[in-house]
Amino acid sequence: MNIILLGAPGAGKGTQAEKICEYLNIPTISTGNIIRAALKSGTEMGLKAKSFMDAGKLVPDDVVIGIIKERLAENDCQNGFILDGFPRTIPQAEALDAMGVQIDKVIDIEVPDENIVARMSGRRVCEKCGASYHLEYKKPSKDGVCDLCTGALVQRKDDHPDTVLSRLKVYHEETEPLKDYYQKQGKLAIVEGQEEIADTTALVLKELEV
Ligand code: AMP
Repeated sequence: MNIILLGAPGAGKGTQAEKICEYLNIPTISTGNIIRAALKSGTEMGLKAKSFMDAGKLVPDDVVIGIIKERLAENDCQNGFILDGFPRTIPQAEALDAMGVQIDKVIDIEVPDENIVARMSGRRVCEKCGASYHLEYKKPSKDGVCDLCTGALVQRKDDHPDTVLSRLKVYHEETEPLKDYYQKQGKLAIVEGQEEIADTTALVLKELEV
C-alpha cells in the first residue's frame, strides 16, 4: 500500500508512520529526515536546504522532488511506502502524479494550532537515527537516550516556538490545500489526533482497513 501522511508539523505524522510500518512492514520516507541526514554529512543538498529549514520555510520543490524520485526508485519501496512530510505543496503532489506513483490513501492527522506549539516544545529527536520522542507523550526508556540506537535525544532547532509559528503559517498556506487536492481524487481520510498515541493509531489503522 502507498500511503501519504498529511498534517501540520507536530501533528504526530512521524509517530504514526512508525506504527503503520510495524503493521504493514513498509518503509517510511521522511523528506525532513533525509534532509537532516544530508545536512549532518555536509552534502551540497544539505547545505542548500539549511537556511530554509532553520527559518521554518520550505525547501524548494525541485530539491525535495529530486530526493523523492531517487528514494522511491529503491528496492524496498516496491511493496509500498509511507510518505511523511511529502508532498507539502501542490506542485510536489503534481510531480508525484506525473511520476506515475499510485497513491492508495492519504491520511490527514488534524491537531488544532493551539495544541501544536505545546506538543512541539516537548518533542525530542535522536540525533543519530532521527527517531522521534516526546517528554510527555512518548518517553524513551532512559531519559535523553534513543531506545533504538542509544543516540542522544535533542530538540530540533526548528522546534523552537518562534520557528514553529512560521512553520504553521507555511503549513496553512502551502500544504493545507493538498487536502482538497486529494479529496477530489477520493483518497483523503481525516483523523482527529487524540491525546493518547495509541488512540490515534487505532483511528489511522481503521481508515487504512488493516
Ligand atoms: P519535517 O521533519 O517533516 O518537519 O521537515 C523539516 C523541514 O524540512 C521543513 O520545515 C522544511 O524546511 C524541510 N522539508 C521537509 N520536507 C519538505 C517538503 N516536502 N518540501 C519542502 N520542504 C521540506
